Amino acid sequence: MNDRMKNAESMSLSAGVHSANLSPVQKGALGLVGSGILIQLIYWISFKTQNASVWLWTSILLVSAGSVWYSYETYHAHPPGIKNNGVWFRSLTARGSLAWLLAVILTGFYILLYWYPQYLGQGQGEGGANSGLIRLFDPLSQYLKGKPASQWFVYGTFYTLIMFLMGIKFIYKYRHDRYQVLRTLSVLFFQTAFAFILPEILQGLNRPYFDFKNIWPLNYYFFFDWHIDGLIQSGMLGYFMLFWGIVSFLVLTPVLTWFYGKRWYCSWVCGCGGLAETAGDPFRHLSSSSLKAWKVERWMVHGVLVFVVVMTAMVLYTRFTGAANILFLNSYQLSAWYGFFIGAAFSGVIGVGFYPLMGSRVWCRFGCPMAAYLGILQKTKSRFRITVNGGQCISCGNCSTYCEMGIDVKSYAQRGQDVVRASCVGCGICSAVCPRGVLRLENGILDAGYRTRTKEELDYEERSGMKPGVNK
Ligand code: SF4
Ligand code: SF4
Repeated sequence: MNDRMKNAESMSLSAGVHSANLSPVQKGALGLVGSGILIQLIYWISFKTQNASVWLWTSILLVSAGSVWYSYETYHAHPPGIKNNGVWFRSLTARGSLAWLLAVILTGFYILLYWYPQYLGQGQGEGGANSGLIRLFDPLSQYLKGKPASQWFVYGTFYTLIMFLMGIKFIYKYRHDRYQVLRTLSVLFFQTAFAFILPEILQGLNRPYFDFKNIWPLNYYFFFDWHIDGLIQSGMLGYFMLFWGIVSFLVLTPVLTWFYGKRWYCSWVCGCGGLAETAGDPFRHLSSSSLKAWKVERWMVHGVLVFVVVMTAMVLYTRFTGAANILFLNSYQLSAWYGFFIGAAFSGVIGVGFYPLMGSRVWCRFGCPMAAYLGILQKTKSRFRITVNGGQCISCGNCSTYCEMGIDVKSYAQRGQDVVRASCVGCGICSAVCPRGVLRLENGILDAGYRTRTKEELDYEERSGMKPGVNK
């Protein structure tokens, strides 16, 4: 048992709670969720095509009611305050057999989604009718955009619904913490309005699919020929989208990161971060905080950033010159590789499929080029930092245990050193779980004399009653 497990175990036992087992009511609520999922499974594997509306709404109702009921039952009896009791005792959250089963199911679903949608029931050929799981979502798709569903519509619906239901659970769990409640409401809004409903409505109006918050380099196909051509052919709206896409990565991102750090995007806007924070919350303690993981993370995430920059430069070079090759590199080959390895395999299959094994931010931490770009800005040009009142730290290790980016926050707290790390997404969980109020997320103006205080200075401030967390 490693230090983090021991820490979590002792916290659970000292609280007098060993909540690895579910109550009968919780089991009943999960039974409702299970029956809703079963309905979808039956519809899928029998490749049905009839009465999709009834089946769809019944299953969504059961899953939603069961999930909300489970959240209520789990947290309503507890006074406000974060409870992570039992995380190292449950098979699902401690890399047990249930965790492996869930990882296999998730990765399997992503493989079907990306490469074998016909097995989900995607209609084949021009105008081919859907069946199975895709057919089940036809009524909702017809309602939103007047067209049958596709595998991406089904995925978008699942994604948004899961984020919503797990978001309710998250808000209930962290309800005493205003920062957590507000940022969760924010990601739910951006996912529902900007990533799901608006793009579907645009498609229904025969306009280009466009997610206004999906910024290059995360939106790696933004500069692809087919995408730019599609926007240009859409008139003024298309030109506005093109303008918005360029301004958002060139101006908006650096300016907002200067003021607020990368959290404005990773914890308040981004859908990948939103899913990680809500659905991935039960797995956040699984992120490795070892030095080796940090080294791997830096190489990988910056490697992907270099990959996307080179690929985009090649694609634009091809667009303006007509030549596809520079030396041994071919722009079409490069973009196909990026789409396969990073856009699909890494961000989807591994990024979400490995939640139960490697923690909730596998993609954000090791693969997201937007996180790398934001991280460079955050480390070099940002007012954001987590200030530390080191004298109050009791070295309980909660902050390090629940940091989803694997940052060893405790070591900073023990040294009295402010946390300024490229990878920190500003989720604020380290601060929320700290029993001593040691950590504060701040964007205050840094005056010319700003620097991290030494331990001796912090001790002096502590003894002399100076206000903690104010850096001079
Ligand atoms: S250091 Fe704190 S705010 Fe930053 S990612 Fe870790 S838990 Fe979130
Ligand atoms: S900063 Fe807070 S949570 Fe982290 S080790 Fe110190 S007391 Fe514990």
